[in-house]
Amino acid sequence: MIDIEISEVGPRDGLQSIKPIMATADKKRWITALAAAGLPEIEVGSFVPAKILPQLADTAELVAHGRSIEGLNVAVLVPNFKGAENAVTAGAHKITIPLSVSETHSLKNVRRTHAQMLEEVRKIRALIDNLPANERPVFEGGLSTAFGCTLEGHIPESKVIGIAEQLIKAGCDEVGISDTTGFGTPNQVTSMTKGVWAAIGKDKLTGIHLHNTRGQGLANVIAALDVGLTTIDASMAGIGGCPFAPGASGNIVTEDLVFLLEGMGLKTGIQYEKLMQARKILRESLPSEVELYGFTPDAGLPKDFSMATPQA
Ligand code: ZN
Repeated sequence: MIDIEISEVGPRDGLQSIKPIMATADKKRWITALAAAGLPEIEVGSFVPAKILPQLADTAELVAHGRSIEGLNVAVLVPNFKGAENAVTAGAHKITIPLSVSETHSLKNVRRTHAQMLEEVRKIRALIDNLPANERPVFEGGLSTAFGCTLEGHIPESKVIGIAEQLIKAGCDEVGISDTTGFGTPNQVTSMTKGVWAAIGKDKLTGIHLHNTRGQGLANVIAALDVGLTTIDASMAGIGGCPFAPGASGNIVTEDLVFLLEGMGLKTGIQYEKLMQARKILRESLPSEVELYGFTPDAGLPKDFSMATPQA
């Protein structure tokens, strides 16, 4: 039994922002190693056209690979209905469509208004409902730029709550909140989560995607734990998440998150030594100029540290 689920987003969020393309065989080895370390869910890629993100052109093959690993929950991102069709064909267990709460960002990023995105959601719902019940993926709406947008600036919480309601009404099973820009602080995590819960129910928001752009990633995790969220996204070595400053990661670092949670007595199901083996595979598979982050892998676990998760 695990207390907190870490959803590993490195193969998608991480690799999409690294220019050199990681070989498919290396991605498979890395995903296998991540799953062997105990990560229960891995976002293996995104069904976007290869001409936009050539780094993720092998997503269908990685979904098939992920499905061959027993017990692993295989997640993917889809930008639209077409992407969802491909995700369903490939057999993803979970599909997430990101909807930017900032409409300016949505127009710039996917060239769609909120109304157009919600129409995609309705079409995807119909697609999923046409599948046999045991083949239906979980369908999540990702509330991106929920804590603020580099174009629009401050995003009122009422707007986030309103979009969450609309996503559920249009057919998402659940929503996730995402601090795409790293603007968030712990008090906002608490208040936004409670606001969304009050509108759509506690069972329809369980996860959060946080960035460490301004150093608040793990502080925000503590707020998420305190309020009662149970799934935290993180990226091995903190790759991706559009870091701006050298030495600062974008996504929160899986390895540091594991140390934090396990140190607090919360079981993640992770085998730490195996997690380091997965990191080694990542290091070997990327050009040496790509920086890997993480304080815990650099410093090592404290002497006599005892993981809450029993180690093999
Ligand atoms: Zn991210």
